[in-house]
Amino acid sequence: MENSAVTVAVRLRPFSAREKAEKALQVIFTSGQDTLVQHPDSKQNYSFTYDFSFCSVDDDDPAFASQQTVYEKLAKPLLLRAFEGFNTCLFAYGQTGSGKSYTMMGFEGEAGVTPRFCQDLFSKLASVESSEVKYHVEMSYFEVYNEKIHDLLVIRDEPNQRRMNVVSSYGDIKGWLELGNKQRATAATGMNDKSSRSHSVFTLVMTQTKTESVEGEEHDHSITSRINLVDLAGSERCSRAQTSGDRLREGASINKSLLTLGKVISALSEQMLTRKKVFIPYRESVLTWLLKESLGGNSKTAMIATLSPAGSNVEESLSTLRYAQQARTIINVAKVNEDTSA
Ligand code: ADP
Ligand code: MG
Repeated sequence: MENSAVTVAVRLRPFSAREKAEKALQVIFTSGQDTLVQHPDSKQNYSFTYDFSFCSVDDDDPAFASQQTVYEKLAKPLLLRAFEGFNTCLFAYGQTGSGKSYTMMGFEGEAGVTPRFCQDLFSKLASVESSEVKYHVEMSYFEVYNEKIHDLLVIRDEPNQRRMNVVSSYGDIKGWLELGNKQRATAATGMNDKSSRSHSVFTLVMTQTKTESVEGEEHDHSITSRINLVDLAGSERCSRAQTSGDRLREGASINKSLLTLGKVISALSEQMLTRKKVFIPYRESVLTWLLKESLGGNSKTAMIATLSPAGSNVEESLSTLRYAQQARTIINVAKVNEDTSA
C-alpha cells in the first residue's frame, strides 16, 4: 500500500435467510487476492484481483474473514497512518443488503471497523501520551441525504449544521455512536428505505501536540489528522433507472455523489501517475467536498466493496466488482511508475 493512494478490498457476506430459503446458488468465490464469478445464466467466468478478497460466507471455511480480520488487514494500517500525521478515509461501497453497515458498524459482540478503530485509537493514545506529547480528539457523525447534511448527534436537526464533539475515551465515542445509529435508524423508518439512499460519515479529528524545548524555550508543534469512516448509499441507485419525483432527485444526487467519488479517486490517481496538477472535481458533490481534506494530498484511502454471494444478485455484484477494480487498476499503474522513477 506504500505508493498507492487507495487500497481496495472486497467482502462476501453469508447467505441471508431469504437466499437460503430460495436455495440460492453461490456464484462468487475468493482465492487469495482474487475474486471469481461464475455467471449462473451465461456460464461466463470473471476474475478480479484486489488487495484483499475477504470471504465471510461460511465460518467453517479456513479462509473465513471475521470482523477482526477485516479490521486488522484494512483499517488498522489507516490508524497507524493517522498517528504518523496522514489523513485517512475508508469507504464501504455496495448494493443495499450486501453488508456495508455490518462491516462499518456491526453489532454488540460483532463490532465492525468503526468501534474497533476507536477502541484501538484510545488504547494507542494511552500508551504514547506523555508530558511531551498531548492528544486532542474530536468527532462528528452525520448523514448526507439529497445533497444535504444531517447531524446524527443532535436531537433537533438543523440541516447543514455539523457539530464536533470533544471525546476523551472510547466510552465517550461509544455513547455518541449509539445515539447516532439510533437516530439513523429512526430517520429511516417510514421514509421509503432512506438508509439505503444516504451516506453516513463518521469523522475523527486527532491533534497531536509536541512540546519541544529549544535553547531553554518551550515550543508547541501540532499535527492534525482527519479520519473519515464512510458507509455509502446503496450502489444500486447508481445503475438502476429512476422513475419520478423524489425518487428521481434522490437517485440523481446519490448517483452524483458516488459518481463524483469515482471521478475524484481517478483524478487523484492520474495526478500521482503524471506528477502534474490535475483538476480534482471535489465541488461536484457534497460528499466529496466534505471529504476533500482526507482524499488526496497527504492522505491514505481504502475502499471495501461488499457483495452477496448469491446468483440472484450477480449483475449488481459484477457492477460493484468493476467499480472497485477500476479504482485499483489505475492505482497499480501509478505504483509501477513510482517504482521505476525512484
Ligand atoms: P447494507 O448496509 O449494505 O445495506 P447490512 O450491513 O445491513 O447491508 O447487511 C444486510 C444483512 O446481512 C444484515 O442483517 C447484516 O447483519 C447481515 N450481514 C451482512 N454482512 C454480514 C457478515 N459479513 N456476516 C454476518 N452477517 C452479515
Ligand atoms: Mg446499511
